[in-house]
Formats: sequence, structure tokens, C-alpha cells
Amino acid sequence: MQVPSHVEYERATSVEHALSLLSRPETRVVAGGHSLIPMMKLRLAQPELLVDINGLAELAFITLDGGQLRIGALARHADLLDSAVAGQHFPIFHDAERVVADPIVRLWGTVGGSLCQADPSEDLSAAFAAARATAVIKTPDGERTVPVREFHRGPYETVVGRGELLAEIRVPLRPGTGSAYEKVSRRVGDWSIAAAGAVLCLAGQQIQEAGLGLTAVGAEHFVAAEAEDYLRGRAADDDTFQEAAKIAAEHCHPSADQRGPEDFKRHLVAELTARALRRAADRAST
Ligand SMILES: Cc1cc2nc3c(=O)[nH]c(=O)nc-3n(C[C@H](O)[C@H](O)[C@H](O)COP(=O)(O)OP(=O)(O)OC[C@H]3O[C@@H](n4cnc5c(N)ncnc54)[C@H](O)[C@@H]3O)c2cc1C
Repeated sequence: MQVPSHVEYERATSVEHALSLLSRPETRVVAGGHSLIPMMKLRLAQPELLVDINGLAELAFITLDGGQLRIGALARHADLLDSAVAGQHFPIFHDAERVVADPIVRLWGTVGGSLCQADPSEDLSAAFAAARATAVIKTPDGERTVPVREFHRGPYETVVGRGELLAEIRVPLRPGTGSAYEKVSRRVGDWSIAAAGAVLCLAGQQIQEAGLGLTAVGAEHFVAAEAEDYLRGRAADDDTFQEAAKIAAEHCHPSADQRGPEDFKRHLVAELTARALRRAADRAST
């Protein structure tokens, strides 16, 4: 099947307008459309109404505000990649965006769409989980905030309910923080076979806080929680990183598929986690 079923279309003129349209049953937001439209063509998604939010300029921003990096849901992948302020404080997002798809997808696909699609192979989900970001969701009664680590209920399912809209992502800034993202895919522009993101907050050579996100390997909420626990309070050296990487590989749940067998993916998780931790530590101390 290559043709979507009949669907109505409305272009939202404000967040309030979008929220009122989204209160109808069988309604979906369309942002970049790079995930939703192919799913509609295959009839894996059959909404009765599409609410186009591309006119909502108030959701397309990236800014530093009150000790946080704030990223609007309608910021495009290319905007995040171009953002000097994001790159300065969280190079993990530039690392990840460089390997999200290709320039055409990045020009139109959005940060909010990536998170809401909740594809287990989505790169930004792991990067935001590693950075302990918070999602801001507009609701008919106002707004609520949800840690990105609690945002995904499972594959293709999030906590954004009917009549709600993801509006922005907030990432707390902490001094002494360095971050990095490492991904292996079959070819340039492809989805991850496996990827790892690390955010380290150092005091001298000691790890104060660690965030580790894993992509496409069945990590619960995209997080390597056991490895994070191991890292906290230890010295930021290669022995620590190797052990944490081993723990991350042991505790994830990759599936064998056309991208490779389970043991290969675990091997990648260990190698990519160690590399991301080393680069994050280097960036924290410079
Ligand atoms: C060829 C190709 C290769 C790709 N490769 C990669 C890759 O390597 N890594 C990667 O991470 N991604 C990849 N992607 C996905 C890409 O990042 C998409 O941009 C992203 O998945 C969805 O963003 P979108 O804005 O297009 O969302 P849409 O397709 O418009 O929407 C996706 C879902 O999110 C919902 N939604 C969108 N915005 C909101 C909002 N603000 N509030 C509530 N719900 C919302 C929609 O209703 C829909 O259910 C690829 C896509 C393509 C087409």
C-alpha cells in the first residue's frame, strides 16, 4: 500500500488552536512529516485529522535561559546542528545530529517529532536521556513537565496524551560538563546498529554525575542505568570507562536483526560507550 487513506487537514495558527484541534479523536500532529507520512502511506497510521504545526514559529527556537538550554519542539535537526550555543554546552547534540539521516531529512525533521515518534533507533532520544533533559508538554489546562527518561512508554508510544502537544525540551547546564555521542550504522545516513551518548559532570578528575544513553539496543528508557551508578564518584580514567562500558553492554537487550546478531551489538555498545565516555571527559576538562 503506497497511498494514505482519506485524511482531513488543518493548519494550526497558535498553540491554543492546535490543542483544541488535538482534542478530537484520531487526530495526529504533523511536524516534519518524515516519519508520520511514510507510516500513513503504509497505513500503519490512519489518522482522521492531521494538525500541521509548521506555522507555529513560537515552537521553533533554541536558546539559553535561566541555566538551561531550551529547544522548541519545532526546531529542525539542522537548526540544532547549526546552533552554536547548543554545540558549546552540549556537543553531544552536534555529534548526534551529524549522524541523523541526511541533510534533506535534517532540514525538515524536527526535534519534537523525533522524540514523539519514539522509534527505538531515534538518536536524539538517547542523547536527551543522557543529558537528563525535561520535556514540556502543553495540555488543555496549561502545561506539565516530564523527565525525558520517563517520556517514552515503549516503542512508538509516549506520555503525550490526546489533546496535548510537546512544546519544548529543557536541558540543565552544570559546570564541568562534557558530552559526546558515538554511532555505528551500516552506511552513511542510516539508522543506528548501535549508538551511545555520554554526559559527564566532573569535579577535577572525579565523576560527580554521569548520564549514559543507548540507541537501538533495547535499553529501558534509552538509559544504561547500572553503568551510570557505577560511574558516580569514581575517577574519570580509562579503567573506569572500560568497566562502565562492560556493564552497559551486559545490561542492554539488543535483538538480532538484519543489522547484526546480538553479540555484535553488545560488542558495539561496549566499544561506543567507552569512546563516548573518553571524549566526554576530554571535553569536560577543556
Ligand atoms: C530516510 C530517513 C532516515 C532517517 N534516519 C534517522 C536516523 O539515522 N536517526 C534518527 O534519529 N532519525 C532518523 N530519521 C527520522 C527523522 O529524524 C525524523 O525527522 C523524525 O523521526 C520525526 O520528525 P518529524 O518532525 O518528521 O516528525 P513527524 O513525522 O511529523 O511526526 C512523528 C510523530 O511525532 C508526532 N509529533 C510530531 N511533533 C509533535 C509534537 N510537537 N507534539 C506531539 N506529537 C508530535 C506526530 O504526530 C507523529 O506521531 C530518518 C528519517 C528518514 C525519512
